[in-house]
Amino acid sequence: MANNEKIPVGVLGATGSVGQKFIELLSNHPWFRVAEVAASERSAGKKYKDAANWILSTPLPKDVAEMTVKECEPVLSSKIVFSGLDSGIAGGIEAAFAKNGYAVISNSKNHRMDKDVPLLVPEINADHLELIKIQKYNGGCIVTNPNCSTIGLVLALKPLYDNFGLEAVNVVTMQALSGAGYPGVSALDIIDNVIPFISGEEPKMETEPLKIFGKLGKDGIIDENIKISAQCNRVAVVDGHMECVQVKLKRKASKEEIIEAWKNFSAEPQKLNLPTAPLKPVYYFEEEKYPQPRIHRNLDKGMAALVGRLREDSLFDYKFVVLSHNTNRGAAGGALLCAELMKAKGFI
Ligand code: NAP
Repeated sequence: MANNEKIPVGVLGATGSVGQKFIELLSNHPWFRVAEVAASERSAGKKYKDAANWILSTPLPKDVAEMTVKECEPVLSSKIVFSGLDSGIAGGIEAAFAKNGYAVISNSKNHRMDKDVPLLVPEINADHLELIKIQKYNGGCIVTNPNCSTIGLVLALKPLYDNFGLEAVNVVTMQALSGAGYPGVSALDIIDNVIPFISGEEPKMETEPLKIFGKLGKDGIIDENIKISAQCNRVAVVDGHMECVQVKLKRKASKEEIIEAWKNFSAEPQKLNLPTAPLKPVYYFEEEKYPQPRIHRNLDKGMAALVGRLREDSLFDYKFVVLSHNTNRGAAGGALLCAELMKAKGFI
């Protein structure tokens, strides 16, 4: 498709860690093109190349570099906006865009648990998009992407949930620095160190999966009943969240059956062949020392959950590790996949 035939989109919070990832992923997207970038009043009015400190290894696309950063006001000409806004201000700005007829696909926590807002993982709950029909946004809508650690976890859990049922989950995370935004955690805080606290992260991991695995009801989602306990840590890795997971299943399963379930898992985005969908949502590594963030985080576009070290557990039934790319699958890539699903299903 020629660039001028692609759907124009805006990026809110375009200068940040997630915003930059959006620009990178959209630069060669077959359906969408970045037409507008917006950020805070500190950046508005400047050229994007001067407002953003580009930290990605791919070059800043030339057309975006020359764009003038706009304010996050609902007067953009693009009717689809991706939000990588700071959660301190995202809630009001995203609602204002939706009320003015924009389709907002957001990475921020603010609207995730709203009754009428899908908390979408396209491989898991594509049917939750139906919630848009009960939103009162005047023709606009809000769709959200889960927390970056939640996404890797639920992708790995989905085949277990479908095949054996899930009773309880314990998860301990080792989360990358890019998850704290840019400039993020100070070097003196994180070099030679682990920080055993990430504000707000544990409650998100303990509640978001219940909505994601929930059933679509008339007035919203009926949450699934799974006991989840989470402990979250910040580690000195640039990209890629690693999680140590223990699960209690509802039905007995052998190790081989679990690995088969992961290997056979495929869902709607794969069937629809959506451009940002991973070929396989879950990869299982037989090698004891894998997966590792530096080596594996970009596998399959950084969009899959990479699982390894499955073994029996004396407290729960099984334990394993899962790795997922926090700004690709866990943020901009995941949101892009949501938008692709929305387009394929006629919601945008
Ligand atoms: P970030 O690097 O701090 O970027 C924040 C963005 O918000 C910047 O573009 C900033 O613009 C803009 N902003 C701040 N205050 C504003 C205001 N008053 N009005 C308009 N724009 C404003 O943060 P991030 O890591 O990209 O995260 C963005 C959102 O995604 C957060 O809600 C975060 O929780 C969520 N998220 C992040 C990740 C991740 O891995 N990083 C994963 C999942 C979800 P200026 O540059 O002009 O200040």
